[in-house]
Amino acid sequence: AQTNAALWARREAAVARGVASAAPIFADRAENAELWDIEGNRYIDFAGGIAVLNTGHRHPKVVEAAKAQEDRFTHTSFQVVPYEPYIALSEKLNELAPGDFAKKSLLVTTGAEAVENAVKIARAATGRPGVIAFSAGYHGRTLLTLGLTGKVNPYKKDVGPFPTDIFRVPFPSVRDDITVQDSIRALEMLFLTDAQPDRVAAIILEPVLGEGGYHPVPTELWQALRAICDKHGILLISDEIQAGFGRTGTWFAVEHSGVAPDLITVAKSMAGGYPIAGVVGRAEVMDALAPGGLGGTYGGNPVACAAALAAIEAIESEGLLARSTALGETLRARFADIGARVAPYRMWDIRGLGAMLAVEFVTDFDTATPDAAFTKSVISHALARGLILLGCGMHGNAVRIMVPLTASDAIIEEGMAIFEAAVADAIA
Ligand code: PMP
Repeated sequence: AQTNAALWARREAAVARGVASAAPIFADRAENAELWDIEGNRYIDFAGGIAVLNTGHRHPKVVEAAKAQEDRFTHTSFQVVPYEPYIALSEKLNELAPGDFAKKSLLVTTGAEAVENAVKIARAATGRPGVIAFSAGYHGRTLLTLGLTGKVNPYKKDVGPFPTDIFRVPFPSVRDDITVQDSIRALEMLFLTDAQPDRVAAIILEPVLGEGGYHPVPTELWQALRAICDKHGILLISDEIQAGFGRTGTWFAVEHSGVAPDLITVAKSMAGGYPIAGVVGRAEVMDALAPGGLGGTYGGNPVACAAALAAIEAIESEGLLARSTALGETLRARFADIGARVAPYRMWDIRGLGAMLAVEFVTDFDTATPDAAFTKSVISHALARGLILLGCGMHGNAVRIMVPLTASDAIIEEGMAIFEAAVADAIA
């Protein structure tokens, strides 16, 4: 029989070192919020394939829809022979996205591709080159999206130069003593020093920083950005790739602020485990490029479109938006309880929106010094006890929760009990 150790050795010999794997185990099968490795060990999955599985592993409706599509055709390229599922998914995205205006959509395959295309569309629609992004933001690993990503290690290290006409503003941060007012002032300063406002096409940000540590954008910042964009004719882009499709208790996390962005990028939990992504936004903006200017061989794959339509239907029919909100409250209370009893002065911050939650580990409360080593230890003890966790944050000292919203209360509590034990292990 295969072992995790033997496969790890083959992996090291055959796979480029730059592709990291958080868990040194190999998947055999998975169901909803549980996964079994090739040695038969069972895990509870709080990582959800990096926020892809809000509807769980192999949601029965998603699997059924994908299989039905596979039995008809799997690929024609929408640019050669189009098909209905691409249109149906675009219609659904247009309907779900916030904003009281006509919308259109583009489907691609990965999140980075969605962001690349949102920027292309914004440039074509405005005739302007500039893009403004935020510190600690994550938008992908292609060269344009790396330019937008606001974190050097490990993403941007050694692979520059990055595209020009990208500017950065500090994201509000309690740790770094940056207020919303500071961020807005920095943006206004940027307009004076580097970025001519009428040469800026778009401002892009995540509604909740994902890789950057699950910090929600304060409502006042969304409102200020909307006003600044309107004043200068700049398009506002919400990158909902990690926060969208119910993770925060609404279809899109920006909805919590009441602000309607001009463009939204989507991927991950949109299709419950199939590779598909997209851009949805103002119809006239989305129509800026001439036919042939957008697309790609695989964009909007029919099997992935069918899976996405089924995943969206499952979120609707199973009440997963409300489930996310309720789950967020349960998890918050449980984290606070663990923090108080098991790890006094170690769990510094519990934050997020809905079930998009993270906790930060520090050496002590007084200095709130990030403790990445302790965080790593919690994650590895959790894995040894049967819980898959993923870290995040600029200082690598946060653990984020991306558990399927379809997980039962019993599984969630089983996972939280393991988390609690793992924290105790890391202290011992
Ligand atoms: N934007 C955000 C907010 C993301 O979280 C990610 C992926 N973690 C991306 C973009 C890039 O998506 P992909 O990995 O599918 O290219």
